[in-house]
Amino acid sequence: MPLDVCQLPLVGGHPALDLVNTLERGGTSPHDFLSDSSALLRWSELVGVISDAEVDQVGRVWRDETAAAHAGLAAVRDIREGVYLVLLAAITDADGDTAGDPIAAGAALVALHQRWSGAAARAKFVLDSSRVRLAYGTVPAMLVPDRIAEAALDVMLTADLTRVRRCPVLEGGCGWLFLDQSRSGSRRWCRMADCGNAVKARRLTERRRAARASHS
Ligand SMILES: [Zn+2]
Repeated sequence: MPLDVCQLPLVGGHPALDLVNTLERGGTSPHDFLSDSSALLRWSELVGVISDAEVDQVGRVWRDETAAAHAGLAAVRDIREGVYLVLLAAITDADGDTAGDPIAAGAALVALHQRWSGAAARAKFVLDSSRVRLAYGTVPAMLVPDRIAEAALDVMLTADLTRVRRCPVLEGGCGWLFLDQSRSGSRRWCRMADCGNAVKARRLTERRRAARASHS
């Protein structure tokens, strides 16, 4: 049985990358951990894009208006796909080749801009003690997708996209995206404790097997 979305390790280094990792893309049957609006609500609280009080508020609205809940989930999945396509196009290998598709990434940027425009239209200026800030999520039915749109904008505008990595699938990794925040910039695995060590253990077994075969 697949894990609950709230059991997924948060390895992305940013909520927008953790969002991308809620869809298992490899293999023949992709698995979406954001299976319904209640999973989305619990995950949004876990990664800190909404508060406890907001969970209750959105939960009430989404229970009363199923269509709004579905629209919220669809919007988040849409943003997730857009962020994935953009970040994938930013990842290059040693030869400067990208695993992504620049055309798909360009279309994704247009779609993300539309999502963000909607979120910005629903946002409002709030005067804090020392500054005015833009508060996203003033409409409860759209609060979650609006905060996710804010997170997507944040990663695209502020993160160093040359530090986006993908846990190497061809070498036995899981394919999750993460921001490499190591000083050397040479982090390869999403989690050394899982993917990195599993691959090393597998290689060791293969080497031993090959050594046994060559002796016999
Ligand atoms: Zn991994």
